[in-house]
Amino acid sequence: MDTLPLFHNLRGARCVLVGAGEVAARKLRLLLSAGAVVDIIAPEACEEITTLAEAGEVSLILRSYQIGDLDKAVLVVAASNDPTVNKQVSEQARAQHTPVNVVDSPELCTVIFPSIVDRSPVQIAIGTNGTAPVLARMLRTQLESLFPAWVGKLAQLAGRARDTVKQKISSETGRKAFWENIFTGQVAELVYKGQEKAAETLLYQQLENSEPGVQGEVYLVGGGPGDPDLLTFRAVRLMQQADIVLYDRLISDEILDKVRRDAERIYVGKKAGDHAVTQANINEKLVEFARAGKRVLRLKGGDPFIFGRGGEEIEHLSAHGIPFQVVPGITAASGCASYAGIPLTHRDYAQSVRFQTGHRKGEGVELDWDVLVKPGQTLVFYMPINGLPDICNKLGQHGMPKSTPAALIENGTRQSQKVYTGTLKTLPDIIQRETVQTPTLLIVGEVVTLRDKLNWFGEQ
Ligand code: SAH
Repeated sequence: MDTLPLFHNLRGARCVLVGAGEVAARKLRLLLSAGAVVDIIAPEACEEITTLAEAGEVSLILRSYQIGDLDKAVLVVAASNDPTVNKQVSEQARAQHTPVNVVDSPELCTVIFPSIVDRSPVQIAIGTNGTAPVLARMLRTQLESLFPAWVGKLAQLAGRARDTVKQKISSETGRKAFWENIFTGQVAELVYKGQEKAAETLLYQQLENSEPGVQGEVYLVGGGPGDPDLLTFRAVRLMQQADIVLYDRLISDEILDKVRRDAERIYVGKKAGDHAVTQANINEKLVEFARAGKRVLRLKGGDPFIFGRGGEEIEHLSAHGIPFQVVPGITAASGCASYAGIPLTHRDYAQSVRFQTGHRKGEGVELDWDVLVKPGQTLVFYMPINGLPDICNKLGQHGMPKSTPAALIENGTRQSQKVYTGTLKTLPDIIQRETVQTPTLLIVGEVVTLRDKLNWFGEQ
């Protein structure tokens, strides 16, 4: 380590800021938000600092820096536009062993301001020891989205309950287990939903129970179409805290890799005609694991509420009083269309889009063809592969021009994505000549022609 990160308690402490321009004002805001008492020394000051001084928030001494100005300061910041002054401040601060920061001159600093993610009381500080402040800021942006505002609320709740928990649970290991359960279980999820009162009540209930948190929870999570970058932050967070995961055939290995390493993995995928695990069986398992106190991740391809039977699964959970939450995912239609360069709607071609199952029941595909062939819409068929010739044929028979463009997207959004394009007339033959792998999605409509211009991903 080149430096030691510390959190500095500045409440009521005297800090000296040399310089009063815009840059100094930025540092001043930080110092004030940490409760410091700030003396500012500079021959002239920017508007923001002058206003603060007039309001009595800071003391502003309008003159050049002098020896002795740093006396009794616990922290010194030099942000003047005169390098000689900055150097002098640095030397004198160091001579009297006061931590000093000189803006934009790491070599003159003994302390560096980190990039901060502030979820007070939770704070994350990122430093690069002055080598790459821009990188620090980028990392900060990423962390900002990973730690939503409620993290601070959760810590505040913990702070309020801390002493009571200490009295009630005497062993350190016991307390650790208790808090882990609070921060990853239902209490945290309630805070997330903005139900802080309910969260607090539940926390004390769990504290009263000798076996805290026996009731588990089910997370019904949409894993998107395959590219792990398309997961939501919430999906990743829940994937990281689950004890057990039940996943489908559509879940790619890269996505499964994001699940907590020591979580138990159970494959419950179905292949056409070979129902490895029945739906009833899955429903029962979800209840059983949650009852055993586990955090159960039910991970589904795409969005759980679009041709995913997610609704049925949580109906069952609801009937059995098991808490659950649903995280949407990017559905295959959105993912495949984007990665194939086919806008699903377009002012000139399609004013609506229909998501349709193309799954064959028995001999043929039976759909409301007269509605489907109406112009000005895009049709997206999920599970189209077996029914494809029949779908193209029937659309034609019911009046859609045979020249209507159509695309079949295989392994959409994945590195292995392939797109076959043609028309209602030609696509079935094209597909027959190829060895097509599943999953595939069929898009029918004028928007398909836009792919020639808009294709940006893979197979250029
Ligand atoms: N809940 C899922 C759909 C489940 S039905 C969702 O919202 O996407 C399964 C069908 O989804 C597959 O037969 C296929 O038509 C489609 N599908 C899912 N992922 C796909 C992908 N990466 N590429 C192409 N089609 C996909």
